[in-house]
Amino acid sequence: MKTDFIIVGSGIAGLNAALNIAEFGKVLLITKKRLIESSTNFAQGGIAAVLAKTDDFKKHVKDTMIAGCFHNNREAVKFMVKHGPEAIKKLMNLGVKFEIIEKKLALTREGGHSKNRIAYAGDRTGEEIEKTLVALVEKNPNITIWENTFALDLIAKNRMCYGVRVIKNNRVIDVFSRAVILATGGIGQIYKYTTNPEIATADGIAMAFKAGALTQDMEFIQFHPTALAIERKPLFLLSESLRGEGAILINSKGERFMCHAHKLAELAPRDIVAREIYSQQKLGPVYLDISHKNAAFIRKRFPKIYSTLKKKYSLDLTRDKIPVTPAAHYLCGGVKTNLNGETNIKNLCCLGEMACTGVHGANRLASNSLLEAMVFSEHAAEKIKIKRDEIKTVNKPALHLTKISSSQTCASRVIKEEIKTLMWNNVGILRSKSRLRETLVELRRLEKLLPASTTNIEIAEVKNMLTVARLIIEAAIKRKKSLGCHFVV
Ligand SMILES: Cc1cc2nc3c(=O)[nH]c(=O)nc-3n(C[C@H](O)[C@H](O)[C@H](O)COP(=O)(O)OP(=O)(O)OC[C@H]3O[C@@H](n4cnc5c(N)ncnc54)[C@H](O)[C@@H]3O)c2cc1C
Repeated sequence: MKTDFIIVGSGIAGLNAALNIAEFGKVLLITKKRLIESSTNFAQGGIAAVLAKTDDFKKHVKDTMIAGCFHNNREAVKFMVKHGPEAIKKLMNLGVKFEIIEKKLALTREGGHSKNRIAYAGDRTGEEIEKTLVALVEKNPNITIWENTFALDLIAKNRMCYGVRVIKNNRVIDVFSRAVILATGGIGQIYKYTTNPEIATADGIAMAFKAGALTQDMEFIQFHPTALAIERKPLFLLSESLRGEGAILINSKGERFMCHAHKLAELAPRDIVAREIYSQQKLGPVYLDISHKNAAFIRKRFPKIYSTLKKKYSLDLTRDKIPVTPAAHYLCGGVKTNLNGETNIKNLCCLGEMACTGVHGANRLASNSLLEAMVFSEHAAEKIKIKRDEIKTVNKPALHLTKISSSQTCASRVIKEEIKTLMWNNVGILRSKSRLRETLVELRRLEKLLPASTTNIEIAEVKNMLTVARLIIEAAIKRKKSLGCHFVV
């Protein structure tokens, strides 16, 4: 089968790219579950951009670079920051309803930001963006949507991408196109404790890597400091904007500990807050407390967090201290791209969380990821639009669906849990060279237990997780000293 453009992923990056590119050709949008199932849909806090009179581009660039330990690609940061205000304007024009107070766009602050610059929609910003973009994509006659379709492999040869091999309705289908855009999101599911939804199994990065794409900064996994410390999968996130609005962190003795750890206290960069909580947890549970704020304000400002805690966990955000823990949240690195989203493989672009434009450096500044996905998907689309090459095809050895026994799927589930535990224990917030090396050996052992190729989606996901776990550890081993989210003890 042939189409002009294939986009894999229906989060903010894939949806925005699809809307733009559809003006210039037929787009096939592939997503492995329902359209809305994405990390984007889970985002609570907001999207950063220079929008206040007291703010300026230099300050946003500086805050991003400080959070990223100056490991960032400065050109990419400047580019993202400069295009931030237009990205917000575009979302508003598309119908996204950000919070407006006294006829002005409301702006809040999160950790590491020196100014109020986060536009938000209550505490369900991602859901509002996702819902708006999905409605537009569904209406667009140039976009064909394949839900519940799993991208298994890229069809690529000699650093040239021709299309994607997918599994749809129990059939293997090869789709050829002028360009392929991967926007498959993050890798959180590689870790035992994560805020990421089930779709975040690192498929796009593994597929691109297998086809010869370069990856960068894979060691920098951001652990969100404040996920709810009650075991459910994924862990429920307590947005940084709670701390932005005055929530404090207290230890098991009732002491506020962040004031001693950093001058920005609870609003210090995430890696610092996550490590402090992690070490305080050795003494006992750590809590987030916003109960000193007006109850009506809390309910109005954080309706989703308030009602989820109340209904699902019997906790009252206006009165109770909420138990928190760090959890794997965001991959700062990914497939190396330039400012156009292009990779070292011709006709393959990567966008959103799975791409490494270099904007986040060694640690992402809060609310810069929705912005990055929006700005670079917009820009890449401009570039891709002008592609007029013929759709070329290439032979890929045929792959037939093979029946997998239930014992094989059970085995792959056990392996999946082993990977998650190994990664959490040994490649998490604190790392040591010896444990990184041991983990690599363990992963190689697990890899041998899986078939070389498969058409089973569950097994394919586990294989992707293994590939990317290996990339994370190899990058971590190469980095000798601690930097940002990569902390060596
Ligand atoms: C709980 C939570 C809160 C967050 N809060 C914020 C915030 O306030 N501000 C902020 O800036 N960022 C936030 N983030 C991060 C941000 O949401 C993500 O970085 C961003 O949404 C990623 O967008 P994306 O389009 O790259 O990927 P996603 O939104 O994750 O979309 C990926 C898509 O790819 C599809 N896919 C994956 N693999 C395959 C495959 N093999 N075949 C077919 N389809 C596939 C998925 O089904 C999904 O549709 C948060 C993240 C989480 C988890």
